[in-house]
Amino acid sequence: MTGAVREQAESFTSLDPRTSEVVGEYPVHSALQVRAAVERAREAQLWWGGLGFAERKRRLDAWRQLLLKRLDELAGVMCAETGKPLDDARLELVLVVDHLQWAAKNAEKVLKRRKVSSGVLMSNQASTVEYLPLGVVGVIGPWNYPAHTPMGSISYALAAGNAVVFKPSELTPGVGAWLVSTFAEVVPEWPVFSLVTGFGATGAALCKSGVDKLAFTGSTATGKRVMAACAETLTPVLVECGGKDALIVDADADLEAAAQAAVWGGMANAGQTCVGVERVYVVDSVAQEFIERVTRIAGRLKPGAEPTADLGPITMPSQVSIIQSHIEDALSKGAMAVVGGKESVREPYVEPVVLVDVPEDSLAITEETFGPTLTINRVADVDEAIRLANGVRYGLGGAIFSRARGMELARELRAGMVAVNSVVSFAAVPALPFGGIGDSGFGRIHGADGLREFARTQAVTRQKFKAPLQPMSFARGSRTVRRLLRILRLVHRR
Ligand code: NDP
Repeated sequence: MTGAVREQAESFTSLDPRTSEVVGEYPVHSALQVRAAVERAREAQLWWGGLGFAERKRRLDAWRQLLLKRLDELAGVMCAETGKPLDDARLELVLVVDHLQWAAKNAEKVLKRRKVSSGVLMSNQASTVEYLPLGVVGVIGPWNYPAHTPMGSISYALAAGNAVVFKPSELTPGVGAWLVSTFAEVVPEWPVFSLVTGFGATGAALCKSGVDKLAFTGSTATGKRVMAACAETLTPVLVECGGKDALIVDADADLEAAAQAAVWGGMANAGQTCVGVERVYVVDSVAQEFIERVTRIAGRLKPGAEPTADLGPITMPSQVSIIQSHIEDALSKGAMAVVGGKESVREPYVEPVVLVDVPEDSLAITEETFGPTLTINRVADVDEAIRLANGVRYGLGGAIFSRARGMELARELRAGMVAVNSVVSFAAVPALPFGGIGDSGFGRIHGADGLREFARTQAVTRQKFKAPLQPMSFARGSRTVRRLLRILRLVHRR
């Protein structure tokens, strides 16, 4: 279907990328239908918000138990729509369950009204701050981690007392439908969590539908369009976009661990991971040994359709030519392929490709590849590695392998999250905020910051007693402000 024709269609199918078999059919929701869903969600939110933290936690815990019990059912839907290996789908759901528990358990502690000091000059006031639900949150998600990524917003937004209207990627509507229908089993009263499906236009309609916040995860280009659409109604946005994460290998690193991590970080999920390793910078003195280890590990990996394959297919067909162009561009600029090469691209699969000595102006270094490819460049020292790692527009995640200087080097990386002596592990720690800077977007999901992203801050002062001085009143005496200044000087004497 061409763009214009598909946007006007009433329904669309989701396909298994391994076989092109149709695995589901879903409606293309119009702007009117999206708006109606948001209106229903607004009513539902009044009820959900009114339940309070304890009852919401009870419901979210029940949903978590259901997800646990039927984990393989959802994993099956994820495999069918993305083609990813079964254990990768299961692993993704481990994260979903853990984050859901954290959000439900910690929402009250993080968001409830708490006292803050009023300071000496305002000591007649009791001051509090509280984080109240925003209302209806729109969530637009990608296809690569069709459960974990949107749930990073959905779990936290629901725990904070919001209703959610979710628009999954057109490639993975079945995963979205499964999540929404199972939530309704534990919360049957109101459509607190609802689904709209369709193409980009349905997502664009959600941006303009009057939601109180829009949480977007996807590419930087679409992120900019989402932000522009939301600007029309001053709808706040959270934008989680792509990355070009670097892994740095210091001279004293555990080379086997670093090589295993680089290959897993770069190739798992067929490289379709926003915080996947795309670039490696290795200190010259250990580079040869490191490259040999990576070559041995990556050379053994095979993509395939079977549930036990190392890698699945490239889920989004149009991505295959991008991966191919990055490989070709690097080779034409003088890079060397130590694993795979141009011939590794066999749609819908891409076999692992490891490129060494890749010029820094190559597309494989500057643009997100989103395929099972790794670049490895040698550097004189870690300072050069940091400079090159930070030399891209993206700033999502990163990894450092170093025995002595891991924490020190982590601070030098221009990235929202860093793993020291591992990869991607920060995504599995629910208490840690997740998000990037630069072209990787802004705002945070996960952790206390992730809960507060879906809340409006309210500051309240309550007068406990009438202050002897009343400077903020037209009834103040002529000497009131002078007295106040005397007190001020006493208080700020040092
Ligand atoms: P896209 O940007 O193509 O799409 C993301 C979502 O936006 C989809 O649901 C898509 O719908 C929707 N969309 C498309 N056009 C519009 C529009 N004009 N207005 C509103 N919504 C729209 O990304 P992908 O799905 O290809 O996902 C891959 C990208 O996501 C990669 O760049 C990856 O790095 C990033 N990502 C970032 C993560 C992070 O947390 N930082 C995590 C996971 C992925 P449809 O599919 O129907 O077109």
